[in-house]
Amino acid sequence: MWTKAVPAISLIGIVLSLPGPTKRYDGHSVLQILPKTIENVHQLIALSQKYHLDIWKSPRFLNDTFDVRVDPEQVISFVHDIESLGLKPTHWIKDVQKLIDEALPGRSRRATSFNIGAFNGHNSINTYLDSLSTNSRVSVHTMGHSYEGRTIKYVKISNNVGSGKKAIYADGGIHAREWLAVSTVLYMIDQMANNPSNDRTIEALLGKFDFYFAPVVNPDGYEYSRSHDRMWRKNRRPVQHGCTGVDLNRNFAYHWNPDNGGSHNPCEEVHSGTHAASEVETKVLQNFLCGNSNFIAYLNIHTYGQYWIYPWGYTPVLPADYRDLDHLGRAAATAIRHTHGTTFTVGEDTRVLYAAAGGADDYAKGACGVKYSYTVELRDTGRYGFVPPSSYIAPAGEETFAGFKAFATELVHYEHL
Ligand SMILES: [Zn+2]
Repeated sequence: MWTKAVPAISLIGIVLSLPGPTKRYDGHSVLQILPKTIENVHQLIALSQKYHLDIWKSPRFLNDTFDVRVDPEQVISFVHDIESLGLKPTHWIKDVQKLIDEALPGRSRRATSFNIGAFNGHNSINTYLDSLSTNSRVSVHTMGHSYEGRTIKYVKISNNVGSGKKAIYADGGIHAREWLAVSTVLYMIDQMANNPSNDRTIEALLGKFDFYFAPVVNPDGYEYSRSHDRMWRKNRRPVQHGCTGVDLNRNFAYHWNPDNGGSHNPCEEVHSGTHAASEVETKVLQNFLCGNSNFIAYLNIHTYGQYWIYPWGYTPVLPADYRDLDHLGRAAATAIRHTHGTTFTVGEDTRVLYAAAGGADDYAKGACGVKYSYTVELRDTGRYGFVPPSSYIAPAGEETFAGFKAFATELVHYEHL
């Protein structure tokens, strides 16, 4: 178990003496492959499972790439197998460890101090959230606790005028290694709470909605990705001897099914859990999502691939109101493109290359009735993948927040709020 009793001074010492996560990825490459058919996608997934590889990105649509991390011992035979399918892989990232080393924060920075332009630890994020409670618009709350006992916090941001307003909720970090999702939610919190550039849109939106944000909903995994394994994705519950962690975004109790884009095997990256909502973090988030009848929109923020996608993830059948979800997703994508030129693809989760049951977005819509429920995959399209440099933090925050504001503004008009 995680011990809270370590004196702060030695924590600083430990962090400063570590060059980064201890597990190394020297010589690991990320191959990018463009499948020609849906059958190719299934073949690539099957091959990756045969070699026990870490799939970074499954294509969501046709003409979309499949990215997979391969260790140096397996790369020759894996490439041979891919070429025998008539496909040509490119070595998109040549050395994952090099990217990890380049993206490390400066060693002189105290790990305990919060910096909105850096990738922060869970403790300093919670300290930062607590500090916002002096702002009359912000209240800080505990959503629940993780398996290892960490506090999962969220903030509510409201102008405190009127009651019963519709609410929008966004969270990040359900997948541990997706640090840019965490930094982006923190960026949005700072903008909504402090409105540093006196943006009138923010004031107008606070007149219509209450906003809820949770930057780190899988804190055990997040901290493990910082200290031990930069590529960690799941939570940290030991499931079976030698294999730890459940993919929380396959564990939600709405059409949960490991055979549908997940896995029964606890050693796999997409292990769906032993049963629906087997994980404490999943239960915490489910209770939160269904516990507020004012929620009209939910953004479950991930990296990477640049998608703004809506349910269902468990089936290619579209929800009856998919046109509404599509319309608002396009409003967001347009605003994102106008910020830094980043192109997001809008569409349904599985249309129809890769289904995945047990996702948070399906649960919010299907079980809790949150109409506008999305999975948002932030930048990029694979140049850095899961290991973005800290120079991505500001532009990713800016473009995503522009999309968020446009989405919420259009929601006011579209729903006559
Ligand atoms: Zn993810």
